[in-house]
Amino acid sequence: MSRIQQLSSALRDKKISSEELTIEYVKRTERLNPVLNAYVCTTFAEAIDNARAADKLIAKGEGTLLTGIPMALKDNIATDGLPTTCCSKILQGYRPYYDAAVWQKLKSQGAVLMGKTNMDEFAMGSTSETSVYGAPLNPVNTAHVTGGSSGGSAAAVKADMAVYALGSDTGGSIRQPAAFCGAVGFKPTYGAVSRYGLIAYGSSLDQIGPLTSSVQDAAIVYDAIRGKDVRDQTSLCTPQGETKLTGDVKGLKIGVADEFFEGINPEIKSAIDAAICLYERAGAQVKRISIPALKSALPVYYIIACAEASSNLGRYDGIRYGFRAKDYADIDDMVVKTRTQGFGREVKKRIMLGTYVLSSGYFDAYYKKACLIRQQIISEFKNVFSDCDILIAPAAPVTAFTLGYSGGNPIEMYLSDVCTVPVNIAGLPAVSLPCGKDKQGLPIGMQVIADRLCDGTALSAALFFEKEAGIVIENQGDIK
Ligand code: GLN
Repeated sequence: MSRIQQLSSALRDKKISSEELTIEYVKRTERLNPVLNAYVCTTFAEAIDNARAADKLIAKGEGTLLTGIPMALKDNIATDGLPTTCCSKILQGYRPYYDAAVWQKLKSQGAVLMGKTNMDEFAMGSTSETSVYGAPLNPVNTAHVTGGSSGGSAAAVKADMAVYALGSDTGGSIRQPAAFCGAVGFKPTYGAVSRYGLIAYGSSLDQIGPLTSSVQDAAIVYDAIRGKDVRDQTSLCTPQGETKLTGDVKGLKIGVADEFFEGINPEIKSAIDAAICLYERAGAQVKRISIPALKSALPVYYIIACAEASSNLGRYDGIRYGFRAKDYADIDDMVVKTRTQGFGREVKKRIMLGTYVLSSGYFDAYYKKACLIRQQIISEFKNVFSDCDILIAPAAPVTAFTLGYSGGNPIEMYLSDVCTVPVNIAGLPAVSLPCGKDKQGLPIGMQVIADRLCDGTALSAALFFEKEAGIVIENQGDIK
């Protein structure tokens, strides 16, 4: 049984109440969070209230698998009356007056919210170090980053300060921190989960998904949050009923594209090769393929993401949300000073880049060209999935950086997104799951990618590996 299934049956069988379970999580979080900085805001009082309400639901026999289970939300997911800051100074003090669709769904099932998790400012980054609250630390080795941008969510799950957490993934922000911390991260098909109440970064790429300690748990949370929502025009109807995972890969056609392995750390490559052998031994058919357009994926991603961000972040002007600069001469001066003081360096860099690629004279050369190449990437993936059921690839070309490293090597930080961004460009579902460790004992992540709306296929194939390789994600109890 998965962790959620175990806890849920313990709650139903009255072996423990949600209130008792929540108190355990509160104590653990009080002990570990000062070290790990995974939560930027804890909501323990609300959690205890949620837990008492959940206990009542369970007593009436009205609970679901997630009723009474302690969990966490990334700080870019709107929570009514609770701070939602995107870990940016510009949103300091902002408390939305509505819940994001995903939180509405989970709340109505009696989920227990422990707090909001640390992240890169506005989800821009791959280490969570651009957070205004300072970086979260990797529970596996606190000298290393958690990855990003959903680094706090990954650390909270890995250190068992939450049974599961939601993150958002625009170019890898669920899958890469899951890989760096040794957890499971699932980015659903674009549109499978409503973005209503997710603070926008790159709207054509953003997607909410779970970080968990097993593939089965990722499927359980995915089922609880997915589905059409009239408040998000890009949301989609997903298959009815529970996502059943067979873990059976006999006859499954697996594509392995060379482009995903270029410039990969050799230890990661051999861990993925070993995983592919396991699939083959179980009767899957492995095809070596090529997706040439992937060589342009990283620049295409950064042009489109920054263009969309420059437009999305236009709404932060000191008038409507959060922070406002103190001394100013007139309204223009107020807007300029608020944005200058409120946004961090990385966010400003991206707003400027995005404004540049959209400006007249450069639009055709950058933004339009990136959109055309995006179509090429989509059509090459389409071709691949006419003949393959899944693709297997590394989640990242490297394992977790040491803290502070990427500050001096920003290019390496951008390059570390090379394996994850293609999936967002094409709107595909992908799971990242642990598949080994490097010489330093840092986790290595593998991606299982499927065609649009074939989320169950990706999860099921990932489950096979988790079982076959005997991967049990240990919660990191002792933090060094
Ligand atoms: N690292 C990527 C970026 O900085 C992806 C971030 C994300 O998925 N939110 O844009």
